[in-house]
Amino acid sequence: MILNCNLCGTPLADKLYDSGSTKSLTSLCTAHEGRTQVYVCQGCAHVQSVAMDNIDAYYDDSYDILVDSEEEDQIYEVVSGQKVYRTEHQVRVLRDKITLSAGMKILDYGCAKSATMRTLAGLTPGLEVHLFDVSDRYRPFWDKFIPQERGATYETPPAWNGRFDAVTSFFSLEHMAQPQDALRKIATLLKPGGIFYGIVPNVFANTADLIVVDHVNHFTPPSLAYLLRANGFEVVEISDNAHRGALVFLARKRETAAGADLPAPAEVQQVARAAHDIAHFWQMAGSRVRDFEQSLGAEEPLALYGAGFYGAFITSWLQQPERVRCVMDQNPFLQGRQIHGVPVIAPADLPADIHVMLVGLNPAHARQVIGDIPAFNHRSLNCFYL
Ligand SMILES: [Zn+2]
Repeated sequence: MILNCNLCGTPLADKLYDSGSTKSLTSLCTAHEGRTQVYVCQGCAHVQSVAMDNIDAYYDDSYDILVDSEEEDQIYEVVSGQKVYRTEHQVRVLRDKITLSAGMKILDYGCAKSATMRTLAGLTPGLEVHLFDVSDRYRPFWDKFIPQERGATYETPPAWNGRFDAVTSFFSLEHMAQPQDALRKIATLLKPGGIFYGIVPNVFANTADLIVVDHVNHFTPPSLAYLLRANGFEVVEISDNAHRGALVFLARKRETAAGADLPAPAEVQQVARAAHDIAHFWQMAGSRVRDFEQSLGAEEPLALYGAGFYGAFITSWLQQPERVRCVMDQNPFLQGRQIHGVPVIAPADLPADIHVMLVGLNPAHARQVIGDIPAFNHRSLNCFYL
């Protein structure tokens, strides 16, 4: 079957990555029975994975992202020992890029729990927050901060068309098998001149995004700009440094629609080469885990650092994952839980008899993160880095 680019329609012929087996991982770090295959589009420089079967049912039923508690959040970064959470950072960047005021109508499209909008609503009295998602499971969270009629699930009501000053999308477009449909709807929901603001993962900064089976789209700056222009938006900004590991974009709905040209072939080639390098890294990473494991003594106990995707990847490739005695993570929401059947502990609680640590962090920052943890300063650890 020929797969076409879901942004520009060009047949996808340049395969970047193939997991080659039925072993895949989702963005929630769970194992998935299915193969991961990733292509780069020679037309618009989009990087696209073959969609999972039953993708709609997966999000409606099994996508429990942070639904356990209201306060739970992911750590964005740790600065001089102070944790900055993702929601806090997202709110800060959004307020830096868009001026919000009382009476403004804003819609978070594909919002989940929408901790970001809840925080924003608290900071901007009179801001009219609306929410939309493809599942009913987040309703109890929404009910705590918006009137019921400002929330919609599965379909947006016709009365919402042309209503909004701004539509936002935080880490949602990467999951959509038909992003063109979503953009068309978002354009319809906005007033002329309205702002579409969003965040998507940046596969060039957070390379694990390439092999996450439930992310159909890995937007590149040229492919994201193409998608926006093709749906009647003027691209104001695409930033790769406002949110680490992500692209933050700001676009304005044009008064009249204009056609969109594909990016220049030289730009497409440059993106394709960079994407091939990332794919090569992941094609080799599994066997590097295996080689390291084989270099260790047979009874050697192991610690894993990182309760996220990179840690799950390492675990999935170990021949003897039962040797991992603990998982360390700085996120206090995770400490005390179990992951892969072992406890999540704070770095300071690493047992004295463990001398080997598998570092499941983005290789771009892993050494710095580990170097900044005081608990490891006086330990002699044999570390494996991806
Ligand atoms: Zn394309």
